Amino acid sequence: MAHSFDCLIIGAGLAGAVSARVLADAGKRVQIWERRSTLGGNAYDEPDASGILVHRYGPHIFHTDNAQVFSFLSRFTRWRDYQHRVAADVYGTKMPVPFNLTSLELAFGKARGAALEQSLLAAYGAERKVSILELRQNEDPALSALADYIYENIFLHYTVKQWGQKPEEIDPATTARVPIFLSRDDRYFQDRYQGIPEDGYTALFHNMLDHPDIVVETGIEAADRLTFDDALRVDGAVFTGPVLYTGALDELFGCAYGRLPYRTLDFLFETHRREWYQPYATVNYTVTEPWTRITEFKRLTGQHNPNCTTIAKEISRPYTGAAGETPYYPILSPESNALYARYRNLAARWRNLHPLGRLADYRYYNMDAIAARALAFADRLRAEGA
Ligand code: UDP
Repeated sequence: MAHSFDCLIIGAGLAGAVSARVLADAGKRVQIWERRSTLGGNAYDEPDASGILVHRYGPHIFHTDNAQVFSFLSRFTRWRDYQHRVAADVYGTKMPVPFNLTSLELAFGKARGAALEQSLLAAYGAERKVSILELRQNEDPALSALADYIYENIFLHYTVKQWGQKPEEIDPATTARVPIFLSRDDRYFQDRYQGIPEDGYTALFHNMLDHPDIVVETGIEAADRLTFDDALRVDGAVFTGPVLYTGALDELFGCAYGRLPYRTLDFLFETHRREWYQPYATVNYTVTEPWTRITEFKRLTGQHNPNCTTIAKEISRPYTGAAGETPYYPILSPESNALYARYRNLAARWRNLHPLGRLADYRYYNMDAIAARALAFADRLRAEGA
């Protein structure tokens, strides 16, 4: 049986959609199989019953320093200028996160805050970012006490809720994503480009995939239609073109070596009959409450509605693979990386099978990193004339 496409892409999230578009622009006929009925992967957004645009799989704020990624995505959307700001709720006091010089004053008052600020600036320099694990190594008694305060009130309980482990037990790069920032800049990200697609992420994905040589089929379980033996077969027939797989690699192979560990999230959506719910787009509950954070979507999207607002509370728990559960965060550790490497070696037996993306690469990628990886990968395939 001849196939009607040159490349097969499993998954219509960011990795799959960016790759599809680059390959189609290069003249390839691209087929996408998506398990869900929707496009955009976890960036999918839609209006809820009250007409408020919500991010169904949690808040997505696009930010990057990568001009190539930004200009590629800008072909498919205009951007609402947006600077994300997050507060930690510490027993009712809301202080900027990343913890910064403003947070310092809110936590310790003017006089003590100023003294600590001097010590911090002398130790690390102005506008520097210092991870909590690094600050905890400081031997100056005042800074060590400060590190204890930040560890206890910003990182410890949040991290235990999010990961089921303490900050020092998880991959150090994870807590380093949210450093202590010796600045009064209270933005969550300092990247050069930052924004939310003006008409939403779903519209961005529809525009990106709107190409005569891209065919998207939804509701398709790829594992049911792929066979791995001497060759990679698609619907029973050998297929030699590139197959980009963006799902979880263990699931592609029936979890033959055991499951890769992930955290999943429950989102509790609530619509409130008032204009605003909270003063920040996101409030992190760093000491109290079972949820890690609450996001108010209108603050991200800029949508105007004086009568109601929708929020989502996020609760993290282990991913079990049960039907309907979504794997969100890989739990990176030497053991899970070793297990992943076994799946990666297995996948490498089929030279035209290419794992790609947050799930398939088993990496804690931001959106821009996935897009950069997909652009580089599709360019390489194109250059190889695949
Ligand atoms: N973190 C924390 N307290 C906070 C924010 C972050 O302890 O108020 C830690 C926590 O371990 C979290 C990690 O830093 O999982 C990365 O946070 P980020 O906001 O980057 O997570 P994401 O938005 O990707 O869920």
